[in-house]
Amino acid sequence: MSAERRCEVCGGASTDPLYEVDGFPIVRCRDCRLVYVGRSPTAEELAALYDESYWEDPETMGYEGYAAAEERKRHHFRTLLDRVEGLVARGSMLEVGSAYGYFLDEARSRGWEVRGIEPSPHAAEHARRRLGLEVLPGPLSETSADGEPVDAVVMWDVIEHLHDPRRTLEAARARLRPGGVIALSTGDVESLSARLHGRDWSLMTPPWHQFYFSRRTLRRLLEDTGFAVERIDGDGVVAIDPASVRPRVPRLVARALRSRPVTKLARRAGAGMIMFAYARRR
Ligand SMILES: [Zn+2]
Repeated sequence: MSAERRCEVCGGASTDPLYEVDGFPIVRCRDCRLVYVGRSPTAEELAALYDESYWEDPETMGYEGYAAAEERKRHHFRTLLDRVEGLVARGSMLEVGSAYGYFLDEARSRGWEVRGIEPSPHAAEHARRRLGLEVLPGPLSETSADGEPVDAVVMWDVIEHLHDPRRTLEAARARLRPGGVIALSTGDVESLSARLHGRDWSLMTPPWHQFYFSRRTLRRLLEDTGFAVERIDGDGVVAIDPASVRPRVPRLVARALRSRPVTKLARRAGAGMIMFAYARRR
C-alpha cells in the first residue's frame, strides 16, 4: 500500500479516521463523507487479491463459492435485467467485472449482444470456456473501444473494488451511446445495517472493498461523470445484515427485521444495505 489518497468523489484531502480493519485505515472525507481505505493499493496488489481462492474458498473474505451460488445468482440477475430493460431497449451490453459470466449469459439468452471485462483470469476463463462468452481482461479504462457504442454498461458489486472508480465511470460513459444506461450496485455505508454493524459490517472488507459509497456520494460521482440518475433501489435488508458476525440487537427483534414482509416493504420503499443505481448518459 502506498501514499494517502485524496477523496475520489470531491477531491478533498482532509479525512476523519473511522476504523482500522485488518490493518487498513478506513477514513471518511470531511467534505462529502465518502468512506474509503485511506491508502492506495497498487494495481499489482489489487490483482493479487482475485486468484481462484477469492472465488471458491469459503475461508477468504470473498465469496462463499461463486459457482455453488449459480442458480440463486441467475435468478437475482434476471430481476436486475428486467430493471435495465425498463430503461433501455435490448441492444448491446458491456459488463465490467463479469465474474463467471452468469449475468451476461442471462442477457444473451434474451437477445442482448454481450461482452465482458474481467481482470481475474480464473473467473474470465470460466466465462469463456463454460459459457463461450467474449471476455477481455481490462481494466475498462485501458481497453480500447472498437465498434459501435453500447446501449448498456453494468457493474454489479464492482465499483467498491476498484482503485479508480471515477476513471472507470468516465470510461463507461465514453463507451455508452448518448441516452445509454449504466446500472451498478454497491453497499450503502449510510444504511441502517452499515451503521448498526460498524466495523463488523459484512461489506467492510478491505483491501477487497476500497470504497464505501452512500446514496449521496454515489449520486454525486455519477452526476460528476456525466450521468443523470434515474433511480436507486435497495435490497430491502434493513438493520440486520444476515452475513455480519455480531448482530447487536435481541434475537426476536433481529428476526422481525429480517422477516419477509419487512424486507418486501423496505425494498418497495427503496431501502436496504445494498443499492442498485440506474443512470443515463447525458
Ligand atoms: Zn470527498
